[in-house]
Amino acid sequence: HPKGRLRTREALAKSYSPLFNRTLDPETEVIISAGANEGLYAIFAGFLDDGDEVILIEPFFDQYIANITMNGGVPVYVPLRPHGDTNKIISSRDWKLDINELRSKITPRTKILVFNTPHNPVGKVFSREEMLEIAQVVQEFNLLLVSDEVYDRLYYKPDVHGRIATLPGLWDRTITVGSGGKTFGTTGWRVGWLIGPKNLIKTVLSAQTRIVFCVNSPLQEAIGISIEEAEAHGYYEENIALYEQRRDKLCKALSDAGLPYTFPQGSYFILANTKRINIPEDYEYPEILLDRPRDFKVCYWMAKEIGVVAIPPSEFYSEENRYLGEDYARFAFCKTDETLEAAAKALLKLTKYINE
Ligand code: PMP
Repeated sequence: HPKGRLRTREALAKSYSPLFNRTLDPETEVIISAGANEGLYAIFAGFLDDGDEVILIEPFFDQYIANITMNGGVPVYVPLRPHGDTNKIISSRDWKLDINELRSKITPRTKILVFNTPHNPVGKVFSREEMLEIAQVVQEFNLLLVSDEVYDRLYYKPDVHGRIATLPGLWDRTITVGSGGKTFGTTGWRVGWLIGPKNLIKTVLSAQTRIVFCVNSPLQEAIGISIEEAEAHGYYEENIALYEQRRDKLCKALSDAGLPYTFPQGSYFILANTKRINIPEDYEYPEILLDRPRDFKVCYWMAKEIGVVAIPPSEFYSEENRYLGEDYARFAFCKTDETLEAAAKALLKLTKYINE
């Protein structure tokens, strides 16, 4: 069925009902998508008319852009900004949204706000107070809220992932996006889900029926069984503990290499500040990188000369705010111990290139 396998929808409804403080109806309030990505695409296909504006909080998961523009939408940007001394270790808590800046971006064409917590690539877990401010804006301007919570099972003590759809008045205007790929480390299976009120899910289902019709059944069943079993086996807690260890390993490796970073409250990314890396002036980059921001060059050089691959985060910003990402590299710790240990060793090669 285009809605997804009944067993998987039932497993999701059962598992998520307590988290949303309501009894979710697996027939009308949950659908299975081909990964979170297709779920997001179906939301934009279902709701956007040409010229409708969608607010994105920068830095953002880069797929949002094509998902919006291919459906006639116009992305509008508002950045998170780091507060404090970014030459030292800061917390993802220190990356903040200026709510007045967000308000200033709203026009009569604004239809959707995309929100993401735990956040890729900052690792921020938004606080209840921050979410209440966003909720107020969403209600005041009658927006649809898309809450991308694909890392909802990956948050670290003392932080707890809060669900914006549970704030007063928000259930009726929020679609929450989830991912079996993130929850179970099965990205290639392409099983995600959307949770929201019946009238919103109905529209997305119409779009999804034309996009993929349905998601492959065997892996939907497998994810359904995983969700059924996860809690009884303590999977989520165990997974968090495992990722905490991985996070700490990568943090130590970055510290040992002399790179300050943003300590993440959730997700599996670390933004390292690469400003102090001093790449030889005469280093030769491929032509394709020559007019790219500095972070592309740093990431290229690091991959080639240090042997560790990171993502240049300016790609997660609009043209106008690209400079905000230029001094960073995004590292991921969804890796085995062996890979993290090899990375730690390789990163030590950086020390001779670091300016004190
Ligand atoms: N949203 C965010 C914030 C992500 O980081 C990702 C994957 N990198 C997705 C959505 C897409 O998830 P999926 O693999 O389930 O399509």
